[in-house]
Amino acid sequence: MKESLTKLIKLQAIDSHLMEIEEQKGDLPAEVEYLTRELVNLEEGTAQKSARIEEIETESRRLAGSLEETRDHLKRYQEQLLLVSTNRAYDALMAEIDTAKKILDDGEFHLLELSDERQRLTDEIKADELQLGEKRTYLDAQKETLRKTVSATEAETKSLETERAEILAQIEPRFLNAYERIRAARDGLAVVPMSRGACGVCYNRIPPQQQVEIKAMDQIVTCESCGVILFWRSD
Ligand SMILES: [Zn+2]
Repeated sequence: MKESLTKLIKLQAIDSHLMEIEEQKGDLPAEVEYLTRELVNLEEGTAQKSARIEEIETESRRLAGSLEETRDHLKRYQEQLLLVSTNRAYDALMAEIDTAKKILDDGEFHLLELSDERQRLTDEIKADELQLGEKRTYLDAQKETLRKTVSATEAETKSLETERAEILAQIEPRFLNAYERIRAARDGLAVVPMSRGACGVCYNRIPPQQQVEIKAMDQIVTCESCGVILFWRSD
């Protein structure tokens, strides 16, 4: 039992050390992930706008061509108007002329709308690209900081993980399960020294009989209040 407890104490020391290393990285990993996603969204948005501009250009060309034809028709109708001899033919031509004029008005208005939309999208893409450039620079800097932090602690992390794996193999599964369960519930702390007769986590007073058991270190004693495994270490 003493041996199991000693191994759990050692495991906790390793895990606490690994947590400290993780804390050094702070919010950087999350920030890098967030920035990367933001960049992808922005790039996708810009690509959609560029695709829309191409659509607008195709549509504008098609419409301009069709308006050109209508203009030709209109010119022809107006010439024919001088040659008609009956009222009926005159009225029919006038109706064609009105229709052609309406098509030209509508078409030219739509061309203007397309041109406005194109301009707005072009301006937006310019602003997006400015933003993209700034964000890329910032992301690269954050990535570099993270890379340096990771590489500075890499060797230490690796040796701690090796040590951890060795110890894990030596601990009975039931103790290991208890350890992981308590650790998950107590912010990574599962094995804690008793401190001045109280639990080192919740400061709950430990009854004298339990204090004796803890000092003997020959059984696993947990805090009645918060459930962490307590051990004895001379202050
Ligand atoms: Zn406690």
